[in-house]
Amino acid sequence: MDLTNIHDVKDLLTRHGFRFSKSLGQNFLIADWVPRQIAEAAGLDKSCGVVEIGPGVGCLTRELALRAGKVAAVELDRSLLPVLAETLADCPNAEVIPGDVMKLDLAALVADRLDGLTPHVCANLPYNITTPALTRLLESGLFRSVTVMIQKEVARRICAAPGTADYGAFTLLCQYYARCALLFDVPPGCFLPAPKVTSSVVRLETRGTPPVDVPPAALFRVVRAAFAQRRKTLLNALAAVYGSRLTKEELRQLVLDCGLTEAVRGEALCLEQFAALVRRLG
Ligand code: SAM
Repeated sequence: MDLTNIHDVKDLLTRHGFRFSKSLGQNFLIADWVPRQIAEAAGLDKSCGVVEIGPGVGCLTRELALRAGKVAAVELDRSLLPVLAETLADCPNAEVIPGDVMKLDLAALVADRLDGLTPHVCANLPYNITTPALTRLLESGLFRSVTVMIQKEVARRICAAPGTADYGAFTLLCQYYARCALLFDVPPGCFLPAPKVTSSVVRLETRGTPPVDVPPAALFRVVRAAFAQRRKTLLNALAAVYGSRLTKEELRQLVLDCGLTEAVRGEALCLEQFAALVRRLG
């Protein structure tokens, strides 16, 4: 059986009485080059343990199992478990874990299921949980890299440069935790059913040490304040959040002390400039 052949996949799913769920972001890959290229991009070898999120019928899982020492594939839809038992029967190093990636204990998953191998994530992510799932994975600090297929528009945001329309709070979160690279696009015709938008594969290589020496909680409080109203100047955006603690004049001086102008908007600042603001805000 070819797990990326549309006829084989339809036959398999019909045999198991499977029905697609839109709310679970179920768009399965039906182009053989895509799972191969995603698994290649993840840069795995037998010293790596991989957490896959949402194996579906297992086409990417099989490619990962070929390259990595172990794959722990977390699937929320229990109706896919008998399908996966069939399609992964000849992959002894792939284990399916029933569960929700947003709820399960990631540290326990890594400790109990990856046999002491170096932890990585690789997935064709369900679109409805892209941002919270990536946030959870990065904040966990558990993984050496995260290689995922997501909506093209979100991929552009992750890899954006300061001053561009795609740059925002999520860009800064991803770039704080990882070096982010946009790898390649995948058109809607490569999926069953076809989504409305183009997808992109990104690789997030997590950093050993943070790029700036301020606590992430304080940093992201300032970042969120700066982007809460994009059209406002940084000064006005800060005043809306810190106005009860500091006067507008104090905030203006603080912005100027950071070498910024009064008219600057949050979207123009790089990570280091946000860190400088955090240090002065105390
Ligand atoms: N990996 C397969 C492929 O590439 O063809 C399927 C990818 S499909 C875009 C997303 C998969 O994630 C589905 O199998 C879906 O059931 C599963 N899923 C959705 N939400 C999930 C969650 N919160 N935790 C784990 N799996 C989830």
